[in-house]
Amino acid sequence: MERLKGLKCRECGRYYPSSPIHVCEFCFGPLEVDYDYEVIASQISRAKIEAGPPSIWRYAPLLPLNIPEGETHVGQAVGFTPLLRARNLAEELGVKELWVKNDSVCHPTWSFKDRVVAVAIGKAKEFGFDTVACASTGNLANSVAAHSAEARLKSYIFIPADLERGKIITTLIYAPTLVAVEGTYDEVNRLCAEVGDKYRWAFVNINIRPYYAEGSKTYGYEIAEQLGWRAPAHVVVPCAGGSLITKIAKAFKELRLLKLIPEGRTKMYAAQALGCGPIVTMIKKDTDVLVPVRPNTIAKSLAIGNPADGYYAYRAAKDSGGYGEHAEDEEIIEGMQLLARTEGIFTETAGGVTVAAAKKLIEAGRIPRDEPIVICITGNGLKTPDVFYDRLSVDVTIRPSLQVFDQALADLKSKAAG
Ligand SMILES: *Cc1c(COP(=O)(O)O)cnc(C)c1O
Ligand SMILES: [Zn+2]
Repeated sequence: MERLKGLKCRECGRYYPSSPIHVCEFCFGPLEVDYDYEVIASQISRAKIEAGPPSIWRYAPLLPLNIPEGETHVGQAVGFTPLLRARNLAEELGVKELWVKNDSVCHPTWSFKDRVVAVAIGKAKEFGFDTVACASTGNLANSVAAHSAEARLKSYIFIPADLERGKIITTLIYAPTLVAVEGTYDEVNRLCAEVGDKYRWAFVNINIRPYYAEGSKTYGYEIAEQLGWRAPAHVVVPCAGGSLITKIAKAFKELRLLKLIPEGRTKMYAAQALGCGPIVTMIKKDTDVLVPVRPNTIAKSLAIGNPADGYYAYRAAKDSGGYGEHAEDEEIIEGMQLLARTEGIFTETAGGVTVAAAKKLIEAGRIPRDEPIVICITGNGLKTPDVFYDRLSVDVTIRPSLQVFDQALADLKSKAAG
């Protein structure tokens, strides 16, 4: 009995053997990894998972790799990031039970992308590729560069040329070939589709996408396990290509199917920037037609104007009874500052989008105040400090003298009071 059944078209249901392809030849629908859940049920239990390593590999039977138990191709330390009870932020937002799933720490490259890349590059190795590649809004670039170094594979990484400097340096350090393209992410992605047709490379988010996307499920598994094997009532998820939100929903569905968590319902909420929010626009207008946009936002890691999984992200929010919210650039910055000020967590702009959207959804009554809420913090603020250079500065600069400090302190206090 095989655990992995190959790839299945999400639209027409046609089967394909496991291979580096991502669209159905017949209907152009996206392909998804298909499993035999009876086989998985015989290999998995709460106790077995809990005895596994503190990483995404504790869920190996639910991932599309063929690895001997206890081994990994790459990304040994990826995953099992903290789920924190955010009491201060809960108080600030006026809700009873709020959790932060903090993927901005404990990952090799400080974003949730390490989950998808560890799976995608592992699969690329299984397929026998010697070169990996990606089109990235920033975090994927970091992660593909790092994991291809670990895998000893060559890598070509394509980014929009106007990416934050922090994300460029944190990619270059791993010595990939970095190609900056003068255009938007969507233009980069289109170029990559052509490059992928011409060169036999493993594009983690194009021809390897079905496998890549499965890595995101671990974000959901961890939330459920860390809550004591239950799913929360509400989850707020930042959306770029729209994959993560669908895979967190899939994770809870699988855990319910396998009876690892109780039956129930989790409402999914999409968070996007106002300057690039086509998925949230679909949700608000209640239409399944995605209208691509030209991104204009400080949340560059979410700046995908024509998201590959936009339709499915819309469905994940809609079908679960959830909703979505946009955040303006100013609200994104306030969201980053709010999380830092209340919980001591410095997230990047994407996290600011999530906090701002959650706040607005709670204030509008879309998310009830008395039910468990998880917000997804997916990336680290140290990569995108740019937005604060003009906004934050030291309070006072002094000579090293106690007398001078006494005066400065008095001045600061009177300024604060006045
Ligand atoms: C890529 C990314 C997301 C969204 O991922 P999708 O699966 O493409 O929707 C969210 N947050 C951060 C920080 C990201 O880099
Ligand atoms: Zn099809």
